[in-house]
Amino acid sequence: IDVKRIRNFSIVAHVDHGKSTLADRLLEITGVIKPGNENAQVLDQLQVERERGITVKAVTASLNYSYNNEPYLLNLIDTPGHVDFSNEVVRSVTACQGVVLLVDANEGIQAQTVAVHSLAKRNDLVILPTLNKVDLPRADPEKVKNQLKSVFKIEPSDVLQVSAKKGWGVEELLKAIITRIPPPNVDTTDHFRAHIIDTWHDKYRGVLCLAYIHSGTLKMGQTVKWKSDVKQHTVKYLALLRPSEESITEAMAGQVVMVGLGTKGGGSVGDTLLSPEATDGKDTTVPAVRHMVYAGIFPADQSQHTQLSDSIKKLSLNDSAVSVAVDSSPALGQGWRVGFLGLLHLDVFTQRLLQEYKAEAILTAPSVPYKVKVKGAKIIKHYKGEDVIVTNPMQLPDVSNIVEYYEPFVIGTIISPVEYIGAVNTLCIDRRGNPLPSNAVDDQMTMLQYILPLSEVVMDFHDTLKSITSGFASFDYQDYGFHPSSLVKMDILLNGVIVDELTSIVHISRLEYNARTLTARLKEMIPRQMVQVAIQAVVGGKVLARETIKAYRKDVTAKLYGGDITRRKKLLKQQAEGKKKMRSVANIKIPRNTFIDVLKR
Ligand code: GDP
Ligand code: MG
Repeated sequence: IDVKRIRNFSIVAHVDHGKSTLADRLLEITGVIKPGNENAQVLDQLQVERERGITVKAVTASLNYSYNNEPYLLNLIDTPGHVDFSNEVVRSVTACQGVVLLVDANEGIQAQTVAVHSLAKRNDLVILPTLNKVDLPRADPEKVKNQLKSVFKIEPSDVLQVSAKKGWGVEELLKAIITRIPPPNVDTTDHFRAHIIDTWHDKYRGVLCLAYIHSGTLKMGQTVKWKSDVKQHTVKYLALLRPSEESITEAMAGQVVMVGLGTKGGGSVGDTLLSPEATDGKDTTVPAVRHMVYAGIFPADQSQHTQLSDSIKKLSLNDSAVSVAVDSSPALGQGWRVGFLGLLHLDVFTQRLLQEYKAEAILTAPSVPYKVKVKGAKIIKHYKGEDVIVTNPMQLPDVSNIVEYYEPFVIGTIISPVEYIGAVNTLCIDRRGNPLPSNAVDDQMTMLQYILPLSEVVMDFHDTLKSITSGFASFDYQDYGFHPSSLVKMDILLNGVIVDELTSIVHISRLEYNARTLTARLKEMIPRQMVQVAIQAVVGGKVLARETIKAYRKDVTAKLYGGDITRRKKLLKQQAEGKKKMRSVANIKIPRNTFIDVLKR
């Protein structure tokens, strides 16, 4: 096929505006699936996606379509709909020349519509503004066209209208994809170069990669190498995804294909695959992943460590957005510190861990990464630069060496009915937000933007926003980088000894509240001991909150008469086993469950 007849595009939209339904209709019209299967959602493959009704992984489908009696190859890249997965959106977008910007004709522009629109703009993609659900009696296409005009300066005459559910207008959309989106601008005669936009693991064939070919051609059996490695490999698997695999012998620049190099071939997202003679002059890198939330994952029982390790490894290969580092906790044993794009991503990852691998895991409370500037950084071993990223508060460098603290911020976009603006502003200011200028969407809806600390957003911001606006406001955020902040390290002490795993990094305005609630919770959860237990929250040597648990004498055998030796032995054995699961701090025995409860969110 001629490159001029390839179109690479993506459908982007706010969640529930109909991406998956539209993708199904496109698959139907191009003959991939049989019509009538109304809610098939072929591209939403994972069980979690079906259950939660969200798309997690970007999946590609290559479609044949003929227009003016000429055959076209349309590569549809389905993108995830949630803010957490925006990096998957970004990756798919690097292989596209255009996007279908889908907007629910009933709901109108939502926060995520704004985010995906600006992403498409930043990447110089052609935007096909498309209203969906025009079949709904309450749909108001004219009103939404005016919103598109006032927020994005899109001319109403450029807006397409479809009903993905009924199939209305979908042929016209396909024509617009062909006539308005340009073909990929690539050189088919140059050396072969491709970048990897996704990977997954196949039991028998090893790593399979979704690759966008930037230049040259790729043949079955050809020799290739990774940009990051000198070793040569042979192309063992080459296929189009329709979305089921269709083996091919050759692919060329502009195409999105599945490539496998066998069980020892490897492959990771963001890497570049080259023909051995290609010198990689061109920049084909995929934007780096930014982890917004970190949490510890530990096996429920250390005997399951190997099993959990295998599961995490396999899953993280498929979900390249996670970062995994070995971690250990005196209370929870050996585990991992895992970085996620957001809380939903964390939820989905652990749910997949349970569903796909049947592994049980303990998850610690999520925290955002912090950055600190350390004085004399060069003499502190292990830290290479002056700035240290801290993904686990336990690993914060000695505070006496810290010159400045930074925390991650985001630009939050909220689209809300005008009557809730007061409540939304109050929420954002309470979450330490700084307002940016606001914009009217129309006479009923307003777009507010705030610079917010990520730590205030990841917890329950979205839920709170929904509840104060009766579900009518939508929210999305974009990375705004690290900025200086008044942070301190808060330690929890039991009878004067620091409990490492309860150390946290807190903004000064939240300090008193956190100190009081954490010590109070611990007082409730730690069982009485033979000695009095003092629980303290301490910052820089100063005690901010204190609770005391009174001493209590406990002897499990006291109630037994001396004669029953077997019963006595059994009880002592039980007690000894119980002790094994204890974390001991300053001679205070704390059951592992207490730690699981305090550390879990
Ligand atoms: P996604 O989150 O963007 O992938 O949205 P889905 O494709 O899952 O659609 C969300 C909901 O809207 C589903 O219940 C669909 O059946 C429904 N839907 C999608 N397109 C249309 C449409 O054109 N008309 C109507 N009435 N409902 C639609
Ligand atoms: Mg979907």
